[in-house]
Amino acid sequence: MRSWSIPVGRLFGVDVRIHLTFFILPMFIFWTDYALRQNNATGPRDLAIVGILLACVGAHEFGHMLAARRIGLIPKAVILLPLTGVALYDESRAEKPQPTALLWGREIRLALIGPLVSLALACLAVAVVTASGRGIELWKWPFLQATNLPKSLVWANLWLAILNLIPAYPLDGGRILRALFSRTLDASAATRRAVSISNAIAMVLMIAGLFSDSWLTMVGVIVFSAAQLEERALVFQSVLENVRLEEVMLTDFATLSPADTLEDALEKAVHSLQDDFPVVRGVDMVGVISKQRILDALRAEGNGYVQAVMNKIFEVSLRQDSLGSAFRKLTARNSSIIPVVEDQRLIGIVTLQNLMHSMALLAETRKLRREESDS
Ligand SMILES: [Zn+2]
Repeated sequence: MRSWSIPVGRLFGVDVRIHLTFFILPMFIFWTDYALRQNNATGPRDLAIVGILLACVGAHEFGHMLAARRIGLIPKAVILLPLTGVALYDESRAEKPQPTALLWGREIRLALIGPLVSLALACLAVAVVTASGRGIELWKWPFLQATNLPKSLVWANLWLAILNLIPAYPLDGGRILRALFSRTLDASAATRRAVSISNAIAMVLMIAGLFSDSWLTMVGVIVFSAAQLEERALVFQSVLENVRLEEVMLTDFATLSPADTLEDALEKAVHSLQDDFPVVRGVDMVGVISKQRILDALRAEGNGYVQAVMNKIFEVSLRQDSLGSAFRKLTARNSSIIPVVEDQRLIGIVTLQNLMHSMALLAETRKLRREESDS
């Protein structure tokens, strides 16, 4: 999920990460600046331009996220790219699962917030520049210029507002396009169509940049990277909400009895791959216990009975429950096992360990299946 980005801090409870494309930007600006004025070294100011761009993208993204939060979508992290951001939502913190049918009107409003924020900031910067009376020629090329940071602030915001309206998903224009597709298609088909249009646009930009302004190539690369990130996050999300527990639960598992001694329990645990065990009396589920808990209890108090140290408060799930709901239960209780029951009878278990493995596996198989159906 997090490849190619590094964490830089938290803002409004959201982890902020910076994508590696942000680090090729200083080199790129330095190079265009250098070509422009050969004798003037502007190293630190080039970095200042990157800083300005980062702040502008950050403001743009937080515009989106604060609006999303107002309607109950709480992002866990955001990855900032030089043009846009990719928000990652937390499956354990979300109050309700993401709607499968996109509410297209709401999506469009959420998408428009970003360019509006950028536009407002650009106007604000223009006002400040004008009020300062320093005679800055706003309309004179080059627009992003290391030797003129206030002017760069105006244009960075203006470019963000304009470029984000390109219909290349996940830029805001592309999100609007996807929302329009979702009126007739289901969410994942709408996303796929938006992504393929986006990839085509990115390709055209990259090639056009080779023959004209190399910034176009840069924009193409950013759009392409952002689309990849966003698509991966969506596959993950759809696995979480669409896969039922019966598809991933372990049906061949060991159980313990409350009357087992801890030494017996440890002996059984040694011969099993499981780290967590359901404790069963007859056909009734009465508790859960982990290998670690057995060990700790043995060390602290010597031999005793499973009954005394097992965890009697635990959540159960049904076979039709989604992977996402199991995840939320596990993290909410800070436990590592969920018994799956049917008519109050234990039919399987889901552990954190096996959930992680099956998620990665399922995401891969879905991608494979989709690539087959696309070709
Ligand atoms: Zn945006």
